[in-house]
Amino acid sequence: MKRHVAIVTGGTRGIGLGVAQALARDGFDLTVCGMRPAEAVAETISELEALGTDVLYVPCNVADRAARENLLQQVRDRFGRLDVLVNNAGIAPRERKDLLEASEESFEEVMRTNLQGPYFLTQRAARWMVEQKQADADWWGCIINVSSISATVASINRGEYCLSKAGVSMATQLWSARLGEFDIPVYEVRPGVTATDMTSGVKEKYDKLIADGLCVQQRWGVPDDTGKACAALARGDFPYSTGQVIMVDGGLTLPRL
Ligand code: NAD
Repeated sequence: MKRHVAIVTGGTRGIGLGVAQALARDGFDLTVCGMRPAEAVAETISELEALGTDVLYVPCNVADRAARENLLQQVRDRFGRLDVLVNNAGIAPRERKDLLEASEESFEEVMRTNLQGPYFLTQRAARWMVEQKQADADWWGCIINVSSISATVASINRGEYCLSKAGVSMATQLWSARLGEFDIPVYEVRPGVTATDMTSGVKEKYDKLIADGLCVQQRWGVPDDTGKACAALARGDFPYSTGQVIMVDGGLTLPRL
């Protein structure tokens, strides 16, 4: 039997690496993409391979149409199939700036990377998935969007990030509705405060907030928390739950009195 193949965008560090590791443990072959040249991620790729999986690394800016096309072509050439797409790559604004000060340039960069790129990568991947389903009724795959609690929690010093993640949330619903006739579920995984390079600059702030009860579970999230959630979705443990949001936030968004 051929092994299943997953793409994890931004899969060489942080949450994406946690997802890639969890999928590798579950027997997926992997394509991971990111902004760095192959030499810079060689050690990480070797570590993933050591989990017993075939790994293809493709340098790819998901905000760039030609780079997305190349990514999918390379997956076709290497594996000839695609079962799971995890849209994880994302950026925070280069500078956190108050809504009254933030620039349109930052807005465009964040929206293109976090929303437009994944939206159109999903479009192209979905077309391929539909082809596979039509060729083989037993084929099953899914699409997972990594959003953020910022899809619903307003931060006035990174409005563009919040808007991009709210957009990812609607994109999940749209693609879920569109791909339902092919039984291709689309899910949103919504992490909370997670220890990665993205949050390293605000570590002290969140150490204090978490100690003061920001989350119900009083610790930082780790990439493996999101990895395990994605793996459960990818291996088909939630087959009749398309369009749903899986919270991975330690209860941060739980309403409390
Ligand atoms: P990170 O900065 O540690 O890693 C991001 C990865 O994405 C890197 O490998 C980077 O190379 C890649 N990447 C960035 N821009 C890219 C682009 N244009 N094309 C391709 N790859 C690109 O970030 P992280 O904390 O691991 O975040 C991963 C995802 O999780 C993001 O979508 C982020 O918004 C989301 N998220 C993070 C947190 C958190 O607290 N860290 C919370 C909620 C959601």
